[in-house]
Amino acid sequence: MRKVHNYSAGPCILPQQVFEQASKSIENFNDLNLSLIEISHRSKDFIEVMEEARSLVKEVLNVPENYDVLFLQGGATLQFTSVPLNFTKKSSIVSYLNTGLWSKKAIKAASKYASVNVVASSEESNYTYVPSTQEWRVDSDSIYFHYVMNETIQGLAMRDPISSEIPVICDMSSCILSEEVDFHNFDLVYAGAQKNIGPAGLTLVIIKKDFLEKANEDIPDILSYKKNSQAGSMLNTPPTFAWYLAGKVFKWLLKKGGVKSIQKENEKKAKLLYDFIDSSSFYSNPVDKEYRSIMNVPFLLDNENADSLFLEKAEIKGLLNLQGHRSVGGMRASIYNATPFEAVEDLVSFMSDFERSYTGNGK
Ligand code: PMP
Repeated sequence: MRKVHNYSAGPCILPQQVFEQASKSIENFNDLNLSLIEISHRSKDFIEVMEEARSLVKEVLNVPENYDVLFLQGGATLQFTSVPLNFTKKSSIVSYLNTGLWSKKAIKAASKYASVNVVASSEESNYTYVPSTQEWRVDSDSIYFHYVMNETIQGLAMRDPISSEIPVICDMSSCILSEEVDFHNFDLVYAGAQKNIGPAGLTLVIIKKDFLEKANEDIPDILSYKKNSQAGSMLNTPPTFAWYLAGKVFKWLLKKGGVKSIQKENEKKAKLLYDFIDSSSFYSNPVDKEYRSIMNVPFLLDNENADSLFLEKAEIKGLLNLQGHRSVGGMRASIYNATPFEAVEDLVSFMSDFERSYTGNGK
């Protein structure tokens, strides 16, 4: 098999070691002569898988005792829809920060249920910065404040903790497990699995128990955080394989030294790529340095006519899925936890060669 690097934004690269274990479990799980994916989610063998994943995620993320961890479905999209459904009434005010496309989608979803106060927005700049906290107009009557920690499309991250009197809800889909986070600063965190957690189909929700108590009861059970919590995230059939694989990814990360250690690697990878982009006159990244994501690195070529040639040549070199999101164009390299340092070195080397051959300049 030829060597490739995968820079996809999600579903994305996962640790190779995890695949090796997973392929065994697909053929014959726990010597049952049955595949993991054909056993009941209520069987003893699967309950063990589930409990292990639940306890590993608490360990790897250092989740405080007074928080519940839910393994749900429907992706992050269902979560930014469920949040207002669970916590608002028609007359409620909720506050949202608008720092990118995912913030905007969450705002749109919440607007169907409650009155949304956008505390600040960087939309007019095409989301190249996070508005300073002094500019935020948070309505003190808000039920909660919502923001997206890492905007996957714009490559914009809000990494500083937020101090807030109002419950804080955060979409960490594309940055969970990539850097240390103090969950005490949040009341509810959600993250689709298909970046640093595992395969698509699973969504992690970390919720403060006091906040959970405030959730509405008069909504469908399947969308209710309370009901899902009471049922141990097993109200209905869960995505068993995704849950199993997530457990393996948590174990892999713990073995590597946990989030603290992967954060150092992630920062090193991102620095290499951003330093190269900043030193070149052919490539550029529009985001303010302070707010650059260490997971998703969008970049533009000086001449957009070169985009298709860049992608074609990258693909020949085995550098895959570098095309930027259709809403912003250009390129994007997603460099998640499982991306080896070598993948960033190879990308930088290719970018440098491409610049030289296209412009006749470059290092
Ligand atoms: N929020 C963020 C930050 C995302 O990156 C994504 C998907 N890439 C979503 C929400 C939506 O996730 P899903 O497709 O799992 O609904």
